[in-house]
Amino acid sequence: MSQPISGVLSSLERVLLDASTIQTRVADLAAEIERDYAGQELCVVTLMDGALFFVADLLRSMDLPIRLFTLTVSSYHGDTTSSGRVQMAQTFPFDLKARHVLLIDDILDTGLTLATVHERIREQCHPETLKTAVLLRKERPRVSEINADYVGFDIADEFVVGYGMDYKGHYRNLPCIGILDPTTLG
Ligand code: 5GP
Ligand code: MG
Repeated sequence: MSQPISGVLSSLERVLLDASTIQTRVADLAAEIERDYAGQELCVVTLMDGALFFVADLLRSMDLPIRLFTLTVSSYHGDTTSSGRVQMAQTFPFDLKARHVLLIDDILDTGLTLATVHERIREQCHPETLKTAVLLRKERPRVSEINADYVGFDIADEFVVGYGMDYKGHYRNLPCIGILDPTTLG
């Protein structure tokens, strides 16, 4: 059954980042990226679905020529910990050769997702430059040696939902980012 927004908010144990804090930081990040790519066309590759809201806000704050490509990958498979495997299409259906590419994801957690896609783009697409941006970076050891070039917030190693990020398909529409009440998990 669908839940009203107040019902969704009450599923949170606490709010980690409220909507205005997120909006302010995303606008700052957009300004930084815009400065770095001034005078150039940017090809953005965004991982779905978690980065959807982040990328929508980020790109609308940037005054640059941008082409947007989306890629569906999954490593969590509806759980709260990474499965250790990244599922994605074998080949990229878009031409990034000699382009300036910015790869965007919602969270840098174990690093497996970003490292896998980064490597594939580099090997298969031969971009001119390839950088990465994430909204959240968890403070934890990474299984892959990758760090994002642009980071919104550093957070503790906890499972978060909201602002595009889900638990079993729920909570993406929360304007804030929060920690679920443990009784909601299961
Ligand atoms: P990694 O491959 O770095 O371990 O995981 C990255 C992916 O796992 C992210 O794209 C995100 O979809 C998912 N993920 C990692 N941590 C969280 C979390 O706290 N909440 C949610 N909803 N997804 C997460
Ligand atoms: Mg993801």
